[in-house]
Amino acid sequence: MRIDLHTHSAVSDGTDRPAELIGRAVAAGLDAVALTDHDTYDGLAEAAAAASRHGLDFLPGMEMSCVHSHAGRWGVSVHLLAYGMDTAAPDLAEELARLRRGRDDRVPRLLSRLAELGLPLTAEEVIAQAGGSPSIGRPHVADAMVARGYVADRTEAFDRYLADNGPAHVDRYACELEKGIALIHRAGGVAVIGHPWGRSSKAVLDPDELARLVREAGLDGFEVDHQDHTGAERAELRRLATTLGVLGTGSSDYHGTGKTDHDLGCNTTEPEVYRRLLAKLPR
Ligand code: AMP
Ligand code: MN
Ligand code: MN
Ligand code: MN
Repeated sequence: MRIDLHTHSAVSDGTDRPAELIGRAVAAGLDAVALTDHDTYDGLAEAAAAASRHGLDFLPGMEMSCVHSHAGRWGVSVHLLAYGMDTAAPDLAEELARLRRGRDDRVPRLLSRLAELGLPLTAEEVIAQAGGSPSIGRPHVADAMVARGYVADRTEAFDRYLADNGPAHVDRYACELEKGIALIHRAGGVAVIGHPWGRSSKAVLDPDELARLVREAGLDGFEVDHQDHTGAERAELRRLATTLGVLGTGSSDYHGTGKTDHDLGCNTTEPEVYRRLLAKLPR
């Protein structure tokens, strides 16, 4: 059984429609998939319907924009995956709406910064690239930069301008990590930190802090096998998940053509871990 629990559709910053993503998952030989678009549930109904047509096991998910402070670092971005949450739970839905407003509010500030750098873009160009997504992200800004010929692809846009420490980076509202875990639990969901040691979040998620989050916030697990983790990091995270008795997942973080080297099923979650995840959900 092949299981991929972290994927994005064009409803956030992926490039496939949700139904198209499900078709590709079937073609890739996957048996179970979670759709985890950033800060929105909008793709879940379409994906669930497509999965049921194909006889694919579908788990509704979401990737929540959080921040965490630890070890002298403040407000560092951490991505929190939610699985099986009640999408009607009001507190979590309201928090997601706040996160999406924070994304909208960021656009004009980010565009001012790009204009100062000699790279003018209009909000309309970014919105056109987002194609109706309720969750406008830096990748859509990157796509608008590509369309103008400023950069060759998303990777160059991030490397030169948009990355967390890049010259065009501007902050946006994000949810405190422990609050995010509590909101997901209150909505009946399972909370798993995505790519804990990818990019910047490693500094605020050392092994002791992950253990504390399990103990004090009830964190359910974290990704082990992810393209942003080295082999040594994967081995250490796997040992840690086993020691702590939490879910150590593996996933592609598929973004369609928006991210190379993240093909569906390039990392998978062990059936035993998936079974334990499902057992945590209310019936
Ligand atoms: P945002 O949530 O709008 O702040 O943008 C973050 C998204 O941009 C992530 O979910 C990734 O899909 C993408 N991303 C972040 N860093 C990079 C990078 N260095 N290269 C390409 N894509 C990236
Ligand atoms: Mn993304
Ligand atoms: Mn992420
Ligand atoms: Mn992701």
